[in-house]
Amino acid sequence: MTSVKDIIQSMHIQTDEGRDLVTRAYTFSKDAHKDHTRYSGEPYFVHPSYVAKLIAEYGGDASVIAAGLLHDTVEDVGVSLETIEKEFNKDVAFLVDGVTKLGQHKYRGTERHAESLRRLLVATSKDIRVLLIKLMDRYHNMTTLQHVPEEKQKRIALETVEIYAPIADRLGIGKIKQELEDLAFPYLDHDSYVHVVTILAKKRKEIEEGLRKVQKEIQKHLAGAGLTNFHTEIRIKGLYSLYKKLERKKKDITLVYDIAALRIILPTQADCYTALGVVHSLYRPIPGEIKDYISFPKPNGYQSIHSAVLTPDAGVVEVQIRTEEMHHHAQFGIASHMSYKQLGNQGKGMFESLSHTWMRELIPSLLAMGKKKKDEALSAPLPKPKWLSDLAESHARLVPGEEFVDGLKEDFFSHRVFVFTPKGDVIDLPSGSSSIDFAYAIHSDLGNTMAGAKVNGKLVALSTELKNGDVVDIVSKKRSSPTAKWLPYVKTSLARRMIRSALEKKEEK
Ligand code: MN
Repeated sequence: MTSVKDIIQSMHIQTDEGRDLVTRAYTFSKDAHKDHTRYSGEPYFVHPSYVAKLIAEYGGDASVIAAGLLHDTVEDVGVSLETIEKEFNKDVAFLVDGVTKLGQHKYRGTERHAESLRRLLVATSKDIRVLLIKLMDRYHNMTTLQHVPEEKQKRIALETVEIYAPIADRLGIGKIKQELEDLAFPYLDHDSYVHVVTILAKKRKEIEEGLRKVQKEIQKHLAGAGLTNFHTEIRIKGLYSLYKKLERKKKDITLVYDIAALRIILPTQADCYTALGVVHSLYRPIPGEIKDYISFPKPNGYQSIHSAVLTPDAGVVEVQIRTEEMHHHAQFGIASHMSYKQLGNQGKGMFESLSHTWMRELIPSLLAMGKKKKDEALSAPLPKPKWLSDLAESHARLVPGEEFVDGLKEDFFSHRVFVFTPKGDVIDLPSGSSSIDFAYAIHSDLGNTMAGAKVNGKLVALSTELKNGDVVDIVSKKRSSPTAKWLPYVKTSLARRMIRSALEKKEEK
């Protein structure tokens, strides 16, 4: 069992209040779960205490760690949120409530539903810290999946790769993404798992020795070019990610260039480009296999240069070049900014920790406020997933000067409601929308012939406001048509426009 001392030692920010909050949550949760065991037969508290330690390691502050300790007390033990708020504070209760609610959405197993659910989870978690707790919760559950009844294992493993690993990826927490996938893999397709493990074992032997030679060679030449303070590491690709790549390359392992990669981590961005020159003058690059994610970061903020080069000792090797900061961000993603506020208090300049393009995209108001950036390359426009631009948009409304963590706490999706069609497609509408808005959002004909609506299988009044996760089924009749009575119930301008135009047509007749 993880001790409270272990957790506290892992905390990035040490304050008396923080330590006190964590200690109280530890005692409370331990007591609340005292009569329960896990499938493994271990005391239940092993789980929340471990989750709390992971959160601490990822830089979560005392409230997030306390919420990690308490995250199963509402759902599993029946502790009330009022009790949590009274014993701890509002913020902790809010986080526990968020995690509890996330647990209520289960993956139903279709591709369509997967995308919907990912969006729903991001939307309803309201606060990125809730997702962080949920990811750590899932991570620990995956490490003990062998104890779970077999019929549940596959569903949980599938949900992990379809829902949680992509969320970890979107938040830029590469480390957790890979671990989640590799833990789930054997439960998803055991034969492929064994196959990939075998390939990797064989390949690894083949290339590891060669790779060490390449590493030495590169180190020598980097030093020769006057670069100092760099370090290199060998990275072996995750099992599941190798499996996916093999599928894409028609199972031809010789076309997978990044089974093993050599990472070069340097102090500055300029050093990265110098190092790239060194590597390319040493080994011939494979055409079309260079990607500059420093100038063009991935949507999740990932930055690095990747170049596959042909080496005499190890065949084709992917070299990844990045700064220390990019490296840290690639592993911890948004979590690396969790304890940002406190860092600010310790005198670290606010903008220093916001130098990622992504972060700057998220907080345009802050950027507008200060600091002309020198790096031209970093101002390139980014392809962004919709949810990320929504997030950016809501941050843009923040008063300049509000701090980043406060921005994270903003309920950035509070103005939208996410509902499903009976087939599992997600439709997002302004909050307060009714089934009439829903019908018109799908098709004008559906709105114009709407006779009623079922929400979660029950007929409801047309004025009923939709809630996140509702499944909405529109009942239509050929002879039905819109009436002026609908107008007060609609929130979207599309629905209002369509109703008005249908009413006008009716009058003309
Ligand atoms: Mn849990």
